[in-house]
Amino acid sequence: MKMIARIKAIPNGQKYRYTLIMASCTLFFSPFLFLPGLVDNPDLCGKVCIRRFYLFFPGITPADVASKMQVASIGVYILSMILITTFFFGRMWCGYICPVGGFPELISRTFSDRWKIEYRALPQVPIRYGYFSVYIALMPMLGISACTLCNFITIPRIFDALSGNPKGLAFALSAVGLVNLALLFLLGFFATKGRAYCQLLCPIGAIDGLVNRLGAKLRFTRRIRVERNRCTGCNICARSCMTGSIQMVGRVAVVDQLSCMSCHECVDVCDWGAIDWRSAPLDKDPKRKKKGIDFYPQPQWQAVYTAALRKGKR
Ligand code: SF4
Ligand code: SF4
Ligand code: SF4
Repeated sequence: MKMIARIKAIPNGQKYRYTLIMASCTLFFSPFLFLPGLVDNPDLCGKVCIRRFYLFFPGITPADVASKMQVASIGVYILSMILITTFFFGRMWCGYICPVGGFPELISRTFSDRWKIEYRALPQVPIRYGYFSVYIALMPMLGISACTLCNFITIPRIFDALSGNPKGLAFALSAVGLVNLALLFLLGFFATKGRAYCQLLCPIGAIDGLVNRLGAKLRFTRRIRVERNRCTGCNICARSCMTGSIQMVGRVAVVDQLSCMSCHECVDVCDWGAIDWRSAPLDKDPKRKKKGIDFYPQPQWQAVYTAALRKGKR
């Protein structure tokens, strides 16, 4: 009964998002494997892999890069599409589609928060980019496989095992499989809101976060933005945020665009209409104002906490 009450309490917008993530699990994973099947691939590895072709190792040549891109040809295409979409619209892939980040979130949300570990308050940006540097350069140099801590293998293998494919069970019983499963439980199923792997370790999330932050500087791109005059600093959005991306600065919500996934949960819970996924209006106050006509301040809809805001200027 408690679980039903928890599901009922989910805002409608989030229910649609979860439906998309469930559909995505069906499209990407066993037993149907619709999308990998289109390119004759049995999982998210090999030519579909979006995590390996940009690894750096000493003495790497342009020919090596070209060969790695050829091996993961579909992965290169998918990652390019993800990043282009992120630049203009925010992290749609991570928030709405990626079954690897979405599946642990769905499972985690069915448990009581009492059983979960709270990672959202950690300094996620230094941890994420620190690990990303290790992943991209140090691990290949030391000969450690990029697949060692990879949810893009683990979750498809769980679905393989559930579909009766022996490959899934063999993975779960291997040393790499056990490490990855432990990681999935600790950073996924038993993490508050289920997104700690995305927050801390996913290399796609690290690249996507950079592109999100870059695009957030422009006024025409769609981002989660805050209208500072409307925000009461009630902190409700920050408590709901699955990635711990919102902080109160001077009693106004500030969104960290390196971590935000545009999931809209903050928008759904803000009764003040102070946070929204939108572009910033291009209107400006007129130079001269007609007598007797009231002009109200233009809404600002800031995506990034800039130096000007820090100094108290709008
Ligand atoms: S951060 Fe990684 S695992 Fe998480 S949703 Fe994005 S791509 Fe998927
Ligand atoms: S954006 Fe809305 S929910 Fe968040 S602190 Fe401001 S008023 Fe509260
Ligand atoms: S800031 Fe809002 S849209 Fe971004 S991850 Fe947090 S809840 Fe989702």
